[in-house]
Amino acid sequence: MRFCPRDGSLLVPVKRGGQTVLRCPKCGYEEPINEAAKNAYKSKSVVEKKNEILVADAIVETLPKAKVMCPKCGNDEAYVWMQQTRAADEPPTRFYRCTRCGYTWREYA
Ligand SMILES: [Zn+2]
Ligand SMILES: [Zn+2]
Repeated sequence: MRFCPRDGSLLVPVKRGGQTVLRCPKCGYEEPINEAAKNAYKSKSVVEKKNEILVADAIVETLPKAKVMCPKCGNDEAYVWMQQTRAADEPPTRFYRCTRCGYTWREYA
């Protein structure tokens, strides 16, 4: 998992043309998924990484919850947020993150 360098939100994969990019649902920060894999190998102190995750989880837990079934583990509750993923004149996409396993997925309208 990758987190936004600006505000520590969990980056979610979104399809952009033929490729997938990681995008911050909060501020819109994006990075190519290959770049993310590369960055994962950069040396970073364990303590620093731990703090990043704590911050991100704290932000996620402030999101509203919805009664929706997780496609991965069958849990019936997930955090929900809206995000503009395409052109500005199209409606934003709804994203869910399972409260049990942390799996994140998007709702296809
Ligand atoms: Zn961000
Ligand atoms: Zn789940």
